[in-house]
Amino acid sequence: MDIHTKSVQVPDLAWPQNSAVPPLYQTAAYAYHGIEEADRVFRSEEPGYTYTRGGNPTTNALACLIADLEEAPAGVIAASGMGAVAAAILALQPTPAPIYVAREIYGGTVGLARRILEPLGFAFTWIDTHSIDQVEHALAAGGPGVVVLESMSNPLGRVCAVDEVIDRAHRVKGRVVVDNTFATPYHARPLSWGADLVVHSVTKFIGGHSDLILGAVVGTEERVQKASQVMDLVGMTPDPFASWLAFRGARTMALRMERASANALGLAEALRHVRGIDEVFYPGLATHPDHAQATRLLKNGYGAILAIRVARGRAGADRLARSLRLVPFVPSLGDVMTTISHPVVASHRDLTPDEQAAVLIDAGVLRISVGIENVGDLIEDFKQAAAEVDHA
Ligand code: PLP
Repeated sequence: MDIHTKSVQVPDLAWPQNSAVPPLYQTAAYAYHGIEEADRVFRSEEPGYTYTRGGNPTTNALACLIADLEEAPAGVIAASGMGAVAAAILALQPTPAPIYVAREIYGGTVGLARRILEPLGFAFTWIDTHSIDQVEHALAAGGPGVVVLESMSNPLGRVCAVDEVIDRAHRVKGRVVVDNTFATPYHARPLSWGADLVVHSVTKFIGGHSDLILGAVVGTEERVQKASQVMDLVGMTPDPFASWLAFRGARTMALRMERASANALGLAEALRHVRGIDEVFYPGLATHPDHAQATRLLKNGYGAILAIRVARGRAGADRLARSLRLVPFVPSLGDVMTTISHPVVASHRDLTPDEQAAVLIDAGVLRISVGIENVGDLIEDFKQAAAEVDHA
């Protein structure tokens, strides 16, 4: 079934009163008429829920939909993308072991690995996923552990040979978590490349409206069950209302991504030779270092994120940002509206300047999360804002 068809389907979970869509079960717990009945549900002999921290029908509907979109056997929802990343790592590796983190990865994931997992005994190692030799060498030296990488990186849209990295990790009995937030299931299905678990910040494109914080983990029943247990016992469970909002958003994810990624390509092409913008990074451009890899691995286009290097560094980037009329600065992404962010100030602020330089980020780089507006309006707005950079 095509993803556009799949995303509007409602899981057949027998909603009460024939509700056409999952109702909002805004409840902390579930009432029973007797001890025996409750006991059967606690023992999973009867279907049902006992306490929302461990499960909720609205949240479960969202989990089923995202698992379907990812073509995964199972899924579970966390209170945030970070919750999902943490639960996925701990589900695959509950005891201290090496943790191999791709150089191009969300700053929060680096923070989790360094500030929470490393003090617990996980040995932190950077890996350069663009060099299979380096990955192989690091894994051989460090031994089995967990590799964490993104199917498309923030903010430069780098795409490595994810399938090969997974293969090398499996050869040394390692496990791999792939963060598919930027690519979304519209463009990538990392489980088909062999990923052990796939995670999302649902906050972004799946939710799609900048109005909630949620995460998801998808994979096999057994692994998802382990992630679910971590979420339950550490307390990463979402509020049902956020799940309800995200379910509503997820049903248009494919349609939004189709439009937003076409817009991103149009904007990237249009900004390539604009004075005030020194460089445009978008995996759909032939000039992007990973264009061939992205073309091999991604489907339906190249995603909705592009980055530009503005002339005159931080002052130029600030001037361009302040001159945009349609595009606000928002330190997030994935909204229906186009937004910009500044990695050095926002998403990558925890990296040292050397680490930022290693992933080609400097103070002139702006990330653009492209929305579903008319692309002509966006191009015009960016062009007039770029013309202001000379006055920075
Ligand atoms: N993964 C990626 C790629 C992200 O960009 C983010 C947040 O920006 C996260 C995970 C964390 O998600 P959340 O903010 O929903 O916790």
